[in-house]
Amino acid sequence: AAGGVAAVLDDGFHSGEPSPEQRKALDAQLAGARPETVRQLLLLGPDGSVRAAASREGVVPPTRFAAQKSAGGLDSYRDSNGSWVVLVTLPVGATRHRVAAEAFFQELYAPALASFSRLFVVDLCLVLLVSFLAYRITSAAVRPIESLSEAARHIAQGQFDHVIPEPTSQDEVGLLARTFNDMMRRLRGYQSEIEAANRSLMERNNELKQAKETFEQLSITDGLTKLHNHRFFQDHLTREINRVSRSDEPLSILLVDIDDFKSLNDRFGHAAGDELLMGLARIMNDTVRESDLLARYGGEEFVVLAANTDLPGAYQLAEKIRTNIAENSFIVDESMRPMRVTVSIGVAAYRGNRRTFFQAADRALYQAKAEGKNCVVTEPDNPV
Ligand code: GH3
Ligand code: MG
Ligand code: MG
Repeated sequence: AAGGVAAVLDDGFHSGEPSPEQRKALDAQLAGARPETVRQLLLLGPDGSVRAAASREGVVPPTRFAAQKSAGGLDSYRDSNGSWVVLVTLPVGATRHRVAAEAFFQELYAPALASFSRLFVVDLCLVLLVSFLAYRITSAAVRPIESLSEAARHIAQGQFDHVIPEPTSQDEVGLLARTFNDMMRRLRGYQSEIEAANRSLMERNNELKQAKETFEQLSITDGLTKLHNHRFFQDHLTREINRVSRSDEPLSILLVDIDDFKSLNDRFGHAAGDELLMGLARIMNDTVRESDLLARYGGEEFVVLAANTDLPGAYQLAEKIRTNIAENSFIVDESMRPMRVTVSIGVAAYRGNRRTFFQAADRALYQAKAEGKNCVVTEPDNPV
């Protein structure tokens, strides 16, 4: 095209406007030379104005063309429609005219772009394939080690029921997994042995605890009457004295002694005497209050520690015990003969001294015996 154009140019004009004939000839030259991919082929004057053009159908040839855009070489810009356009300019021979070829970027590079995207897809597939293979290889190597470390975590938490899926491989990892499972089995065995031993220890411990409680109960209980014994009474007296010394609450004591028990024993036998002791204990137990302590003090002597009770109150309680016993008929021997029993009771109130407290009750009891038995006497210094 440059040659044909140069010929037209040589034929008359170099810098001025071409004549209509010259323009027609130039347009024809350019039209013949425009390749399919070039949307327009332009002849630019030395000032950059369009002297002739061959445009693809529908493309409006530019009436004016910026000289600076076609200074030479390769250029690209957006046209008035916003499409990317590539412009190539070449000088025409020795003239100061230039031929400019304008093409859509898309069209010009379409084959190259297609190759690029094909290559990109192939590359992407290759990358994905390699990544997938790498993942498979890595996880195949790492998974057994992960399950080993998971099993180790279970052991650390004391859970031995965990089983590792054993790999079929004969390598070190497979061996390690099998050894691990073997170890877990043994640990499970030891664990159940320990649990069994623990259970039996706990059973023994419970038995011992119960035995201890029984012994403790026995040590404070009278075997015959099942009342509290002398020892428990002394401990209880200490506690009660400590309590009333702080509170000024009244506290009284009743000493109960069976009348003529020796002759009763002699007449009906010792076993009958025991029966009688039990019967008396029952009656007294039914008579006293929950807050009172009834204990077998000695052979045929009983004691009542009456909490929160003054001397007149204790006298009333003693009278109640005495009459309940005196009015009761006891059957103690094989003859089934009902017999009568009486008791004498000495009563005293606590006045700040443990020894005199007890002595006063003892003296009152002695006096009750002296007064003919089957009666209640309060401490001599404080007659009711
Ligand atoms: P008093 O009216 O003066 O109390 O006379 P007593 O015979 O009751 O008193 P004494 O102290 O002389 O006799 C008490 C008797 O109690 C002596 C003993 O044989 C009897 N005795 C003591 N403990 C028991 C016991 O556990 N079972 C039986 N069956 N008898 C007992
Ligand atoms: Mg006695
Ligand atoms: Mg007696």
